[in-house]
Amino acid sequence: MASASGCTRSGRTRWAGNPTFVALGVLSLLVPGLSAAQAGSGPDISSSRPSILLLSIDTLRADHLGLYGYPRPTDPNLARATGSFTLFSSAFTPMPLTVPAHASMLTGLHPRDLGLLNNHQALAPGHPGATLAQRLKAAGYRTAAVVGSGVLAGELTGLRRGFDIYLDPAPGKVATRRTAAEVNALVAPLLEMGEGPLFLLVHYYDVHEPYDVPDRLACLLRADPALEDVLLQRRLRGVAYSKVLNRRHTDALRRQGREISLREMLALYDAAVRLATDQAARLLEMWDASRAGPGSLVIITSDHGEGLGQHGYWSHGMNLFDETLRVPLLVRWPDAPLASRRQMGQVSLLDVAPTVLAAAGLEVSHDLPGRDLAREIASGTGVTRQPLVVQRMRYVPAQRPPGLRNWRAGDGFAVLDGSLKYIEEEEGPPTLYDRAADPLERNDLLRRFPGRRAQLHQFLAAWMARYPDRLIWPPQAVDPERARILRSLGYIDR
Ligand SMILES: [Zn+2]
Repeated sequence: MASASGCTRSGRTRWAGNPTFVALGVLSLLVPGLSAAQAGSGPDISSSRPSILLLSIDTLRADHLGLYGYPRPTDPNLARATGSFTLFSSAFTPMPLTVPAHASMLTGLHPRDLGLLNNHQALAPGHPGATLAQRLKAAGYRTAAVVGSGVLAGELTGLRRGFDIYLDPAPGKVATRRTAAEVNALVAPLLEMGEGPLFLLVHYYDVHEPYDVPDRLACLLRADPALEDVLLQRRLRGVAYSKVLNRRHTDALRRQGREISLREMLALYDAAVRLATDQAARLLEMWDASRAGPGSLVIITSDHGEGLGQHGYWSHGMNLFDETLRVPLLVRWPDAPLASRRQMGQVSLLDVAPTVLAAAGLEVSHDLPGRDLAREIASGTGVTRQPLVVQRMRYVPAQRPPGLRNWRAGDGFAVLDGSLKYIEEEEGPPTLYDRAADPLERNDLLRRFPGRRAQLHQFLAAWMARYPDRLIWPPQAVDPERARILRSLGYIDR
């Protein structure tokens, strides 16, 4: 990571306590794969179906984008590029963890329904329902994915199915990450290949630790005085980064021999957001200039947010507060009338699959819990708020990290009902927050509203009965290659 005086030198900024990033020069290696995929003769393609771009910017908190009111310059270029998009102001992940959240995006099913509650698990071969890529491929789409992290390794996660091309930085490769610029470089040749509509999944990983950003950006975002206001508003001023991490990270910091402030890390996170949003704007430019661009459906979102020190936690997956659950969701529709409208209703990543399928003219199964957002908006009343259940990572008691506050064993669920959020976990008492009056979710209202508690508990119980737990539990041994990738990305202890 750049020191406080690092703004005078050139080069890249990264946190030395994290895995080594190795740049890939893989573009030339792709040509055989591309040619092979191109050679396959698919079904007849309907030219009336729109091409579809789904961009997932990993770990991107909605409220760290200027588009969502953030006072710092994290997304000026993306904001300009998405002026005609519909912005969903209350979008949430069904689970704040990378693999389960992406599996939900690509199937329309809740992680619980998929039996997929951790990053080292995979979409079971016999899971209910086809993936978006499978459905679209069967309808004549070319299907391609370029992902920025080995955590989404196609074969190991099962997410590769249905994609003609799935470019991941794993397994068997030296690096397990790609920068957004490298992802874009891999996307470019895909845009003009083959005939007919294209479904393209793009995944950026730059906003995920260790924030490998150029010093130019790190310095730009560190110098902004609004950073102090953000820390003050969140009551995080003076907090040390090491106080909001688990021991693995803290040990890495200790080896560096210095204390890093939350302010420094927040500035780095924002710099990574700026890097990713700049590349997203570049991707949109490329997309629109390609054959796929005109009349296409474009969706920009994230799989989850990041704690950034709130509730004593930096990362994601462990708790159910809005800083890890709320994600950006921006949609540009194939048809102009739905553009330029801010939608306040509560939506989720579960709505991505029905929205994509409907735009492609495909049937949306009634079994899917999500909704076609275009249809919702076209109804004239806007997107209606519906209670949404979010699940966090499931922990066995032996995983208890020393020194981390607010960690609870077992399962945890939240019911998001308008401004209210009810949290029920296997360990510890339930809690209730009113996010309109208490956006930082600090004041538990449960005792004041016992009737509401009973109502939300019943809703959750009915939901759990409707979606039985499909997880194979306790977890089975992790595939060694998968373990290597996850370890290199910092997900599991050495
Ligand atoms: Zn993620």
